[in-house]
Amino acid sequence: MPGDCVCPQCKASNQLYFTGKRVARGVVWLSDNLIPDYQRELFPIASCHRCGFSPRVLSCEVLPRKTYSLPVIEHFIQKYVPVDAEGHSLRQVVGATEGDRPHFSTLHRWLAGLGERVLDRLYQPKPAKIKSDSGRLGSSTLIPTAALFAETEKKLSRSIDELWQKNFCITDWKYKSIKRYDQLLACLKLIFMAFSLFTDSSQPQPLTKWNAWLIDYFHVAAWYFPTGLCGTSIQHHNQHQNDVKDVKHLNPETPYDSRSPPNRLLEI
Ligand SMILES: [Zn+2]
Repeated sequence: MPGDCVCPQCKASNQLYFTGKRVARGVVWLSDNLIPDYQRELFPIASCHRCGFSPRVLSCEVLPRKTYSLPVIEHFIQKYVPVDAEGHSLRQVVGATEGDRPHFSTLHRWLAGLGERVLDRLYQPKPAKIKSDSGRLGSSTLIPTAALFAETEKKLSRSIDELWQKNFCITDWKYKSIKRYDQLLACLKLIFMAFSLFTDSSQPQPLTKWNAWLIDYFHVAAWYFPTGLCGTSIQHHNQHQNDVKDVKHLNPETPYDSRSPPNRLLEI
């Protein structure tokens, strides 16, 4: 019930209620046979007694501002950053899937956005300020990954640090900058942690399960991440195995800013 949630705008508790209205929104779901499928869905609209903010109440599989649901995003990331395997290129991973699949550049941006999110490198807006007498407040901020890890560790009594410190190898032709390497490694570690913490034979997307589990505590899509990041370029060719790759010769990627507005909101 929304009444149990914190208003994403003014942070007030027990002020949200269902308005009885619904709004249409496109979502790409992942079918039982792992085929992306676009559908128009109706989501209820809540409202806040205190500030009047009216967020859409999305299901836990749907991330704010994302047409592709988290199971679809997780499915493709799992296929691109498999553990202990050579793997396939972005085009091969996407091209091997039928249905309403994403463009390979979209998968590239997902990996960049989620990777930066996991590494806590994303821009954090300043705390919201009251704008008017209506009580409307400014923006929500992303909950730091460190906080999500700490909450998970506390609730599950599992050592997050032990999982995070596990060594993985990223195939060198998948990156040509240190930043991209860090992003891929962060995504791989996150997927590994999700499988370790939320393994369920009936749920092949444990990150989605982790996200739903965290929503109970934070009342926002915990693993939400922006994708308007242009900090790394796409690999267009495979490197030969004998090529020497020295970190000193990797391309220095330029810093980037999110294309999302600085006061982006997280909806529940
Ligand atoms: Zn409010």
